[in-house]
Amino acid sequence: MSDCIFCKIASHEIPSEIVYEDEKICVYKDLSPQAPVHVLMIPKKHIESLDDVTEEDQELLGYMLYKVHDIVKLMGIENGYRVVSNNGEDAFQTVKHMHLHILGGRKFGWPPG
Ligand code: 5GP
Ligand code: ZN
Repeated sequence: MSDCIFCKIASHEIPSEIVYEDEKICVYKDLSPQAPVHVLMIPKKHIESLDDVTEEDQELLGYMLYKVHDIVKLMGIENGYRVVSNNGEDAFQTVKHMHLHILGGRKFGWPPG
């Protein structure tokens, strides 16, 4: 999608600290990290939120979750991590391109804020 900031990051139009990418996904450091390790994993396909997935996205979504453990290892996270996806207004989704936050390197509270 031409005016989507995350699509522009995935296509290298906007610079960011990409830590991993392949034909399906892109993973890069969050601009405003909330933990010692905070990266965002996006599908290269523009999907606005989890509300907008279709049946054909099942494999892609499974692939994203499957790759989390590789990214955790790559980033040197030990002792646990959190995977978060904010969707829609109440969850304060600020960028309308579906993404997983992968956070680690500190203890997290529960319930989340
Ligand atoms: P959301 O609030 O939608 O769940 O998360 C969006 C995330 O994207 C935020 O954590 C924010 O810091 C991050 N973000 C917004 N714009 C940029 C950007 O241009 N580059 C990077 N690397 N992260 C961004
Ligand atoms: Zn996009």
